[in-house]
Amino acid sequence: MPSSTDLAGRLALVTGASRGIGYFLAKELAAAGAHVIAVARTVGGLEELDDEIKALGGEATLVPLDLTDMAGIDRMGGAIHERWGKLDILVANAGILGVISPIGHVEAKTFEKVMAINVTATWRLIRSVDPLLRASDAGRAIIMSSGAAHSARAFWGPYAASKAAVEALARSWADETKNMALRVNAVNPGATRTAMRAQAMPGEDPETLPHPSEVAARIVPLASPALKETGLIFDVRENRFMQYRMPE
Ligand code: NDP
Repeated sequence: MPSSTDLAGRLALVTGASRGIGYFLAKELAAAGAHVIAVARTVGGLEELDDEIKALGGEATLVPLDLTDMAGIDRMGGAIHERWGKLDILVANAGILGVISPIGHVEAKTFEKVMAINVTATWRLIRSVDPLLRASDAGRAIIMSSGAAHSARAFWGPYAASKAAVEALARSWADETKNMALRVNAVNPGATRTAMRAQAMPGEDPETLPHPSEVAARIVPLASPALKETGLIFDVRENRFMQYRMPE
């Protein structure tokens, strides 16, 4: 992993930037010099982020968008193309947990919503910005996954399936682009002190978990133009890349 990350003049798109891991990733990327396009539904959270980034001397563009609005994702890609003609960094971080429930008790609309936000919106975002990342001299894509994609966890079925799916998307995309400047990696942030984790584990003391700012600081080097790796999963807790690929 690159030891220092200078992102001066680079353009980064971060989804789920209104709170949690995405908020602090957006802030860290801006602190490293990137212009951040911050996407989420909650305008208050985005404005708070904007204030913090401005206080650091950085720049952000706020995009209040519900990622279930697929046409909205396409419009955002078009707008980035018109204004900048390229994108240097994609952080596909927005996600929802859905419910913790036996698979047989999950309601269809809950399953579909988890898939829509965690998987379909991520694919649509990739499709929308793929040409823009290829237009960058060092495009970097960071796809937020979870340990649930690999571990066997009772009651986490829809979320686990969605994270396994986005990892598969990331791996395929990385393989398609392996001979280009674009580098694509998934990230397992590990248990982090956020609203989602509190929803998943209501009995847990949040103070025992790393703050999202610590987690974000470890992820930022994946956006560096100096990064070599592609098609891997970066495990934040282990602070290293994991190789989950089966031998061909
Ligand atoms: P939070 O619930 O704190 O934040 C989720 C973010 O996603 C918010 O900014 C939210 O914004 C955004 N989001 C959710 N739904 C939509 C939507 N329909 N349209 C646009 N944005 C949306 O989650 P975390 O920070 O904990 O999680 C971030 C990522 O990390 C997720 O992908 C999660 O699966 C993953 N992860 C988290 C772990 C943890 O322990 N926290 C562990 C493993 C993985 P808004 O509501 O404003 O739209």
